[in-house]
Amino acid sequence: MRQSKVFIPTMREVPAEAEALSHRLLLKAGLIKQSTSGVYSYLPLATRVLNKITAIVREEMESIDAVEILMPALQPSELWEESGRWDAYGSELMRLTDRNGRQFALGPTHEEVVTSLVRDEVKSYKQLPLTLFQIQSKFRDEKRPRFGLLRGREFIMKDAYSFHADEASLDETYNQMYDAYSRIFKRAGINARPVVADSGAIGGSHTHEFMALSEIGEDTIVYSENSDYAANIEKAEVRFEPKENGEALLELEKVETPNAHTAQEVADYLNRPLEQITKSMIFKVDGEFIIVLVRGNHEINDVKLKTYFGTDNIELATQDEIINLIGAKPGSIGPIQEKGIKVYADNFVQDAPNLVIGANEDGYHYINANPERDFNVEEFGDFRFILEGEPLSDGSGEAKFAEGIEVGQVFKLGTKYSETMNATFLDNQGKAKPLIMGCYGIGVSRTLSAIVEQNSDENGIVWPKSVTPFDLHLITINPKKDDQRELGDQIYAELQQSYEVLYDDRKERAGVKFNDADLIGLPIRIVVGKRADEGIVEVKRRDNGESEEVEVSNLASYIDNLYTQI
Ligand code: ATP
Ligand code: MG
Repeated sequence: MRQSKVFIPTMREVPAEAEALSHRLLLKAGLIKQSTSGVYSYLPLATRVLNKITAIVREEMESIDAVEILMPALQPSELWEESGRWDAYGSELMRLTDRNGRQFALGPTHEEVVTSLVRDEVKSYKQLPLTLFQIQSKFRDEKRPRFGLLRGREFIMKDAYSFHADEASLDETYNQMYDAYSRIFKRAGINARPVVADSGAIGGSHTHEFMALSEIGEDTIVYSENSDYAANIEKAEVRFEPKENGEALLELEKVETPNAHTAQEVADYLNRPLEQITKSMIFKVDGEFIIVLVRGNHEINDVKLKTYFGTDNIELATQDEIINLIGAKPGSIGPIQEKGIKVYADNFVQDAPNLVIGANEDGYHYINANPERDFNVEEFGDFRFILEGEPLSDGSGEAKFAEGIEVGQVFKLGTKYSETMNATFLDNQGKAKPLIMGCYGIGVSRTLSAIVEQNSDENGIVWPKSVTPFDLHLITINPKKDDQRELGDQIYAELQQSYEVLYDDRKERAGVKFNDADLIGLPIRIVVGKRADEGIVEVKRRDNGESEEVEVSNLASYIDNLYTQI
């Protein structure tokens, strides 16, 4: 296409709030334009990349017999009432009301719609397994839309749903999806790593996230250098081996700790190591208050609490609730109390003698507190985040940390939706059973951004060949000169037969054209300039910057050869 006809509004300066590299580059290179917070238009270059990503996705989905459909974005509230998510989804669900007062949601995901579709049409085990997928805009009223396409409020997702008569069939499709996802991200030029993720209240190891490694990533991945262990930090188990250090247990003593609220402040005030302080927090689990204890240098992991208690309904008690309950503010909570509030302590609290704990009285702590002797613990468990360098649960060595962007997730849902929504089939004995389900998402627009996040240099984007908006960037330095324009037109006509060519025929200064070309980042640039009259052009690779002068008569075969090497 002629660049003079394409809409590519490149920018010199991007808004300061664009923190993520890919967000800045996508704005700067003229691929996206913000409409309102978390909502973007995809301009021509982005649309071309999206088409290439979705072509890869479609090919890989069809290779595992997933069938494409398109479901409505507008979803009646009744379906969400059936699954119980109309209330549970909370304020992330975009809700609206029609002229008759009927309520709807703009789909953030499609389990409800697809389950109702399949329950009406699939009656027998003979119709199973069945995998449906779609590529569509999703809506989530994210608390913090940010990083451009990485966390939008309207974004493009590929979502797939599979239906099975038994677990073995689900396992098979899950594994096929897992492999297809690995291929999709590799083909799209992304270095993504599958990691074990949290499956919420369902528990168990039923889900993997695909994480594109990146500094901007909002998720921390815990991995091993010696094995293929990789897990989301929310899920990474902490290995506990009790240590006997033989320290004498000292006498419990209440001490003043004025103005010391955080564990660090208490440690500083009492001049003790942070590890010896404990942090107590009060949570409400399905409406019941509990105290959770970890050591001062550890952080409570609420995802692990949810798995442990088998519920999503866990929240921190508010300051008012805490004052009502124990008569002290959050900075002084401790496990010694007469209210009978159950205490759950992290494993690492059990082998640390003579701890400091809150006294449930503002401005006071106990020193030399010891579990079992001074306070009861209902149960010890793994309730905290692992630290970098701690031993990994698979015994393969130290935990390493990396940041990642979740580009996809595969999930074994089981019968969560089919049971609540009464979606059954008749098995080979004629018995009605709930459908067994899986769901599988890829953030298509987030993937676009993740590709840019991983493929750029100081001058702009460096597109992987598989998803580049055009293959070649042909530039005439001065199209007002007849020899340059004519040679440019001739090359354009010839190369277009085998390649997608972006032809910069604009009457702009050479510097502007080169800057834009670097920003846009097509794999090969062909410059028609001063030596046009001799039939010589310059060919430059975007990835390593190597360039060479080439005779026009050899150009087509030179490009064919070079393009296969990139
Ligand atoms: P996150 O934890 O990042 O909020 P999620 O786990 O809630 O994502 P899923 O429900 O698993 O997201 O959705 C499937 C995929 O859709 C995700 O793996 C991600 O790539 C993409 N996605 C989710 N939320 C957004 C968003 N706000 N903007 C862009 N892509 C998103
Ligand atoms: Mg997810």
